[in-house]
Amino acid sequence: MRKPPTARILLPTLALAVGAAAQQPGYIDPLPVLQAVSREMGVDKLKCVSFSGEGYAGMVGQNITQNTDWPRGEPLADYTRTIDYEAESSVETFEREPGLNPRSWKYGTGWRGGTPLQKHRKQTFVVAGKHAWHIDGENSPPIPAPGDAELWRLDIRLNPHGFVRAAMMDGANPKAIWRWEMAESGRDGATTSKIEKSIVLSATVLGRYRVNATINDRNLIQRLQTWVPHPVLGDMNYEHEYTDWREIDGIKFPAGWHHHDGWDDERQFPVVSGGHNGFGGSFPNIAPNACGDPVVVPEAVKNASAEPPAVVSSELAAGVWLLGGGSHNSAAVEFADFIAVVEAPLDERRSLAVIEEIVRLVPGKPIRFIVNTHDHYDHLGGLRAYLHVGATVVTHQRNRLFYESELLDYTPRTLAPDMVSLYPPTEISEGYTMEDVDEKYVITDGKRLLEIYYVQGLNSHVEGMLMAYLRHEKMLIEADLFNTAADSPAPPALRRALFDNVRQVGLDVATVVPIHGPPAPWSNFLKTLPRPVDSE
Ligand SMILES: [Zn+2]
Ligand SMILES: [Zn+2]
Repeated sequence: MRKPPTARILLPTLALAVGAAAQQPGYIDPLPVLQAVSREMGVDKLKCVSFSGEGYAGMVGQNITQNTDWPRGEPLADYTRTIDYEAESSVETFEREPGLNPRSWKYGTGWRGGTPLQKHRKQTFVVAGKHAWHIDGENSPPIPAPGDAELWRLDIRLNPHGFVRAAMMDGANPKAIWRWEMAESGRDGATTSKIEKSIVLSATVLGRYRVNATINDRNLIQRLQTWVPHPVLGDMNYEHEYTDWREIDGIKFPAGWHHHDGWDDERQFPVVSGGHNGFGGSFPNIAPNACGDPVVVPEAVKNASAEPPAVVSSELAAGVWLLGGGSHNSAAVEFADFIAVVEAPLDERRSLAVIEEIVRLVPGKPIRFIVNTHDHYDHLGGLRAYLHVGATVVTHQRNRLFYESELLDYTPRTLAPDMVSLYPPTEISEGYTMEDVDEKYVITDGKRLLEIYYVQGLNSHVEGMLMAYLRHEKMLIEADLFNTAADSPAPPALRRALFDNVRQVGLDVATVVPIHGPPAPWSNFLKTLPRPVDSE
C-alpha cells in the first residue's frame, strides 16, 4: 500500500524551501532522506533480526560458458540468518546436499577446488566482529575463515537496516542524488510499469566501501550496490535487491533477497561475463529483536593465522617442477632460454610467491609463457601476476574476448590494487598479452616439447579446457578432470572425457600431474574409470 504524499522524501525544491543546506546541482540534502528511510523502516527499533526460508546459491566463477549465469549450487534448505546489528555478528545456518562443493563455500564468491568437500548436511557460517568461521555438521569443530571475515562484515551492512545504521556513523560521508529510474531496473524483473523518481543515497561503510542505496517513493531501500575486491574481476559489482516487504511490530523488513556478484548484464560491451546471481531466496519468517545468546568467538578462531600456505616445490623430471603446497598446483618447465609455467591459480599473492620460487630454482631465465587450463576463477586469478612479469598468456581462443576486456586490461583496481594496476605494463596497449589455442599449440626450443591440447567433448564443468603434455617425459598436466587431492577424484564423466581425449590424440602418458593433488602414475588414473576401458 502506498503512503500518502506527506510521508515522502523531500525532493530538491521542497528541501530548499524548508531551509536545508544548499547542495550542488544534481545533489540533495542526504540527512532528511536518511531520517525518512530510518523512520519508515523502523531502524531505531531493530537491534537484531532473525529471518528464515529457502535460499539459492550461485557458484561464482564456475560457469560452463562465460555468457551464462553462475551455476546454481544445491539449494539452501531451512536457511536462517540472525544478524545482530549492535553486537556486529551474523550467523547463517542451512541444510545442503553434502559431497558436491567445498565446505568453505556458502554461496557467491569463494568457490575453490582442491579443498575439503562439505561432508554433512547442516552448515553454519558465522562472522562476529573481525572473526569468521564455519562449521560442517552438528558437532564439528569450527574452521577459521579469516579470508572471508571482511566480506561477511560488509554483508551485515548490505541489508536495508544495516546500511542505514552504517550511513549514520561518523566518517560515512553520506551524499544523495535523485534520478528517474526506469521501471525494470533494480526490481528483479518488471514488477512495476511506471517510471519512478528515486533517490540514491551513498555512504562509506567499514571505512572503504562506497555503498549506494536506491530508495523508492515509499522510503524503502530497494537496492544496495557497492564494489568488492576480486582477483579476477577487480572492483567487482556486489549488490542486493530487496522486494516483498513485510511489516512486523512497526518494523518493515524485506522477505525477498536477491544478490549479484558481477553486473546483472549479459549484453553490455565490454562486459562479456554473464554470471551475476550469487545468492537469494524468500525469507518470509522474520523475527525482529529475537537475538538469542550473543555469539562467542571460539579460541581456535581467535588465534587462526591468515597466512596462505607456502609454496612447496619438487622436481618431477630434469627441468620440470611442481609448485605445490596449497589447494592448486602450478608446473614450471625449463627450456633452453626461457621457462613456461602451467596454471596461475587463485590470486596475485599466490602467483607472485610461485614466480619467486621459479626464479630461485632457475635463475636468469625469463618466464615466457603462462598456460591457463580454463577460465574458472580459482584457476586464473594469478594470470595478471604473470602479465606483470612479462609472460604471454596461452589460453583457449574462446577466452580471448573475456580476458582482453575484463582481465588483462588497464581498468583501475581501486580497492586492492595489484601489480598490473599499479605498474601498468606496455604489453596491454601493444597487444602482446595472449596466444590463442584452437586445437593444439606447441611450446618448444627444438628439443623439449610442451604440447597443449584442447579437451573436446566436455559437456559439463567448462567449455574451453586445455591440457598440457610433455612428450619426452610422458607427463600430462590437467585440471579438474582427475584430482588426486584427498576427497574428490572428479566426476566420472570428466575422467572419461580425459581418457577419451588422451586416446584420441594418441598421447603415451606415464604420469598424470593434476592441478589438484600430487602427481600419480597414469595406471592409477585408469583404475578410477567407471568401467574397464582397455578392451574398447
Ligand atoms: Zn579446479
Ligand atoms: Zn574448473
